[in-house]
Amino acid sequence: MIYNIAIDGPAGAGKSTIAKRVAKNLGFIYVDTGAMYRAMAVYFLDKGIDVKDEDAVSRDCDNVNIMIEYKDNLQQVILNGENITSRLRTEEVGNTASAVAVYPAVRKKLVELQKELAKKTSVVMDGRDIGSCVLKDAICKIYLTASVECRALRRMAELQEKGVDTSLEIIKADISDRDYRDMHRDVSPLVQAEDAVYLDSSDMGIEEVTDKIISIFNEKAGK
Ligand code: C5P
Repeated sequence: MIYNIAIDGPAGAGKSTIAKRVAKNLGFIYVDTGAMYRAMAVYFLDKGIDVKDEDAVSRDCDNVNIMIEYKDNLQQVILNGENITSRLRTEEVGNTASAVAVYPAVRKKLVELQKELAKKTSVVMDGRDIGSCVLKDAICKIYLTASVECRALRRMAELQEKGVDTSLEIIKADISDRDYRDMHRDVSPLVQAEDAVYLDSSDMGIEEVTDKIISIFNEKAGK
């Protein structure tokens, strides 16, 4: 039996941390779809293509080949034959990903890849449109969010750990911009799917959110 769990929500809500834990606990594969949009961003940044130019981006989409592999259970993203996983987590790549993610040509390509992955095996997939578009039939859908303040503080701690010097105000502005773009784009905007469970993690710990999702899944799957 193949089960799919969809976790959507805004940037910095803790989706990937939680999704990884849920996947590990249930023995499912974790699929980070944001990493695929980020890989697209790396491609266009490297090529020096202006991501505001929809025609140029859409035309070049056919030249992009993204493959997902797993090494020690960790998702690796292969862009045109090269493993670029270590380049994905910068603010520049995140912001560029959100800019190219508004284009239908980009989304079509990545949504097909995501559907293929979920057909083969049980997955916990996180993103923005997983419950509303990619895995409409997922047995368990979660909309995971947290306040902007709380998400910015978490992101700041992450960046500081990596030795990146930044200010809370800049991070908050980046998060608000990204939220706006993700929620207001024409194609597959970030929305809570009708049958998704809303979880606000502002005052919840990682363990608590993980346990909650597992219990929602177990209940839906009749376990
Ligand atoms: O989740 P992450 O921050 O890695 O995603 C980067 C960007 O990719 C998001 O801001 C969003 O614009 C886009 N994205 C998307 N649909 C998804 C996953 C990510 O549009 N399923």
